[in-house]
Amino acid sequence: MSTTPSSSPTEEPFDLVVIGAGIGGLAAGAMVARYKKRVLVLEANYLPGGCCSSYPRKGYIFESGATTLMGFDEHQPLQLLQKALGFSIVKKELDPSMVVWMDGKKILKPKDFEAWLSIAQQTFGDAEKQEKFWRLAWKISEVVWRIAGSNLRFPPSSIKDLLYLGIQNNPADIRYLKYAFQSVETVLKKHGLGQNKALMRFLDEQLMITAQNTSSETPFLFAAPALCYTNYSNYYLPGGMISLPKALYRELRWRGSQLRLRKKVTSIRQQKDGLWEIQDNKGNYYYAHHVLSNIPVWNLPGITEGKLKRWAEKEVKRYPRFRGAFTMGIAVEDTFEADLPLHHQIILPEGETISHCRAKSIFVSFSDRGDTIRCPLGQRVLSVSTHVEFPEDWFNVPESYDAQKQQVSEEIQDIIARHIPGFSKDKIVYQIAATPLSWQHWTSRHLGSVGGIPQDIKNSLFTLSGALSPVPGFYRCGDTVYPGQGVPGVALGGIIAAERIRRKMEGE
Ligand SMILES: Cc1cc2nc3c(=O)[nH]c(=O)nc-3n(C[C@H](O)[C@H](O)[C@H](O)COP(=O)(O)OP(=O)(O)OC[C@H]3O[C@@H](n4cnc5c(N)ncnc54)[C@H](O)[C@@H]3O)c2cc1C
Repeated sequence: MSTTPSSSPTEEPFDLVVIGAGIGGLAAGAMVARYKKRVLVLEANYLPGGCCSSYPRKGYIFESGATTLMGFDEHQPLQLLQKALGFSIVKKELDPSMVVWMDGKKILKPKDFEAWLSIAQQTFGDAEKQEKFWRLAWKISEVVWRIAGSNLRFPPSSIKDLLYLGIQNNPADIRYLKYAFQSVETVLKKHGLGQNKALMRFLDEQLMITAQNTSSETPFLFAAPALCYTNYSNYYLPGGMISLPKALYRELRWRGSQLRLRKKVTSIRQQKDGLWEIQDNKGNYYYAHHVLSNIPVWNLPGITEGKLKRWAEKEVKRYPRFRGAFTMGIAVEDTFEADLPLHHQIILPEGETISHCRAKSIFVSFSDRGDTIRCPLGQRVLSVSTHVEFPEDWFNVPESYDAQKQQVSEEIQDIIARHIPGFSKDKIVYQIAATPLSWQHWTSRHLGSVGGIPQDIKNSLFTLSGALSPVPGFYRCGDTVYPGQGVPGVALGGIIAAERIRRKMEGE
C-alpha cells in the first residue's frame, strides 16, 4: 500500500491504466486505444501474457500455461477482437485437436461433431442415450457462443442494459436457461446415463481442464461449450502462445498506447479530485481517469483501500476456493509417430491421483514438428500441466518442497512414458517444473491460484461479477470476472470491459 501522500502528476494522466498484461488486460487496452485514448498497461513480469505466454530457457521456448487455442469461429471472442482491431496472427489449425488416453483406450476428439458422436458411442456405449446428450450439448454450446458474443452489456447494471439485452436476444433461447441450474450429472441422469461410470469419469476430467470442476458441480449450460471445445476450430501458434499477447501489444502500440514491463502495481487509490493514483514496486506513480484491473479478485484487497478494498474483500469471501497448477516443460528427442496429435489428456486409472496435487489427469501438449522457433529440428518441446487441488499446501513445506517437486515430476514422466508412444525418460534433453510457488512468482497471482473461479451451481457464470465495480472509474476483467476462464473467456471479458469504459468515457 502507498504510504506517501499523493504526489502530483509528472506526466499527463492517462485515460486508462490497465493493471496486468494478461490476455484480458491487453485485449481491453487495445480495444479502448481504438478510440484515440491514451492507455498504459503495467505488467509485473518481464514478458506479457501471464497464463497465456511463452518464455525462453536454455535455447527452448516453453509455454507458461495455455497451449490449446480456440475462439476464432463465428461469434467467438478472438474473432470479434480480430475484426475490431484488424490484426492477423500466424496459426495452424489442428484436427483432431486432442486425444484422450483412458483405461488403455486412445479416444480421438475430431472437430466434426458427427465423427465425435460416433467415437463417443463406440467408446462408452449407450449409443441412443449418448446421441441425445451430445446433440443437446452441441445445441446449447452454439447458443451460448452466439449469445455471449452479442451481449456485451452482461451482467446488466441498469434498466438501459436490461432493455438492450432484451432487444439483443431471442426470447426462444430462454428455454435453455434452466440448464444454468442443472449440473452435468443431473442432465446425464435425465438421459439415463447416470450409471455410465466410464463416461462420467471421462466428462469429469474434460470439465476439469475447461470449467475447473467435475460433472456433479458444473452447470450444464456452461459445461456444454466446454465439452464441445474440440468441435470448434482449434489452433497451434508457431513460436508459442506468446504470439497472441504480442499481437495484442502491437495493436496497443500502433494506436499510440504503451505497455511497461517489470512494473508491479503495489497500490491503487482514488484522489479527492477523482483521479486515480497508481504506484508500482519501483516507487513510480501513474495517474489515470479510469483503472482496469486484470488481476485475480484474490489479489485486489492487498493493493486497494477504502470503499474499493472493502468491496474487494467481500468479493473474495464469495469465492473462497481456487485451484493451482503443477506444470512442466520437457525438451525431448523427436522419435514420435508422424500423425501424433499435438494435445493429449491422460486420465489416470480409477483411484489413482498425482501426489501432492490430487489430480486425476494430466494434459500434455507437443510443439509442432518443425517449429524451429521453439526447439531445434529433431527435438520437440512438451508442455505438461495438472491441477493442484490445494495450492496453498505447497507454501507450507519448506523442508520437503524440493523432494515433492521431484516426486511429482517423476510421476508425470512415468505417466507420459506409459501412454504416449515414442516417449521415454532417456530421451529427455532438458526439463523444468513449476509449482504453485513458481506460478505465484511468474504471475503474482495469490498463492499461485490459476484457472479462475471453479464453476458450480451456486457460483455459475451468471453469478460472477462483471466489469463494473461500485467505485466509478474502476473496472475489472480476467478469469475471475464474467465470463471467466480460458483464453476465449478472458478475451471476451476484455472486450466487455472496454465497451463499458468506452461508454463511460463518451458519456453514454
Ligand atoms: C497451466 C494452465 C493451462 C491452461 N491451459 C489453457 C488452454 O490450453 N487454453 C485456454 O484457453 N486456457 C488455458 N488456461 C487458462 C488461461 O491461460 C487463462 O484463463 C488466461 O490466460 C488468464 O488470463 P487473465 O488475463 O485473466 O490473467 P493472467 O494471465 O493471470 O494475467 C494477469 C497478468 O497480470 C500481471 N500482474 C499480476 N499482478 C500484477 C500487479 N500487481 N501489477 C502488474 N501486473 C500484475 C501478471 O504478471 C499477469 O501477466 C490455462 C491456464 C493454466 C494456468
